[in-house]
Amino acid sequence: MRKKFIAGNWKMFKGPEGTSEFISRFVDELLISKNVTKAIDEKKLEIAIFPPSISITRAIELKTNAPILIGAQNMYWQENGAFTGEISASMLKEVGCTHIIIGHSERRNIFLETNDIINKKLTAAVNAGLVSVLCVGELLDDRKSANTFSVIKKQLLDALKGINPQIISDKIIIAYEPVWAIGTGITANNIDAQEVCSYIRNLISEAFGEKIANKLIVLYGGSVKPNNTASFLIENDIDGVLVGGASLEIDSFMNIIKAAL
Ligand code: PEP
Repeated sequence: MRKKFIAGNWKMFKGPEGTSEFISRFVDELLISKNVTKAIDEKKLEIAIFPPSISITRAIELKTNAPILIGAQNMYWQENGAFTGEISASMLKEVGCTHIIIGHSERRNIFLETNDIINKKLTAAVNAGLVSVLCVGELLDDRKSANTFSVIKKQLLDALKGINPQIISDKIIIAYEPVWAIGTGITANNIDAQEVCSYIRNLISEAFGEKIANKLIVLYGGSVKPNNTASFLIENDIDGVLVGGASLEIDSFMNIIKAAL
């Protein structure tokens, strides 16, 4: 059985001070939730938080040994050099990051990241040993014009070009995030989300084999809240959730985690 993966993407919220407040109380809440720590110990559940890059070190120092994975929201694909404002995968590894979000729709749409850029970032992240949460998802216009599957297919296969198939299920998690559902309060219903997540798993199976596809962790993201989490997680091809807004509050994030048990 695949483990559940619950991830919080803080976007551009919480500097080091806000991160300290959250992490210290969140660790306490987590450690008193015996069902949660048991599921983590038994490797049935993983929890990851993606703070802004300036807050990553603070999160890692404060969580000490608590079973929370810390990741970054962005990186550049070069190792180092004259790239003002950027950070590399090896720098993230150096401070203790284990995970990275790649291809988030805000990076694609606001910062104009193409499938080619996403492929370069994914390749660099994989080479550095980071686990990547690769986001794919269609715009509302794509859905309305019945192009959801073709958009997802292109995003996915372009991003994975040249990646060693053997590492896909260990080092890459796919997050299906319909762009029209991100930060809007509108969620895809669980049937639609399952349909696309199943399509993603089938694509991976066709391209890289059934064994890899069966091990692959596929998440849904887009206005996930404590009261709708369970509806997604009962679906066969949805192994977890990528949460934006509702991961910023300890109570709502804890309730999302508990809904995964
Ligand atoms: C996200 O940022 O990936 C996201 C899904 O945001 P929200 O949960 O706020 O829609």
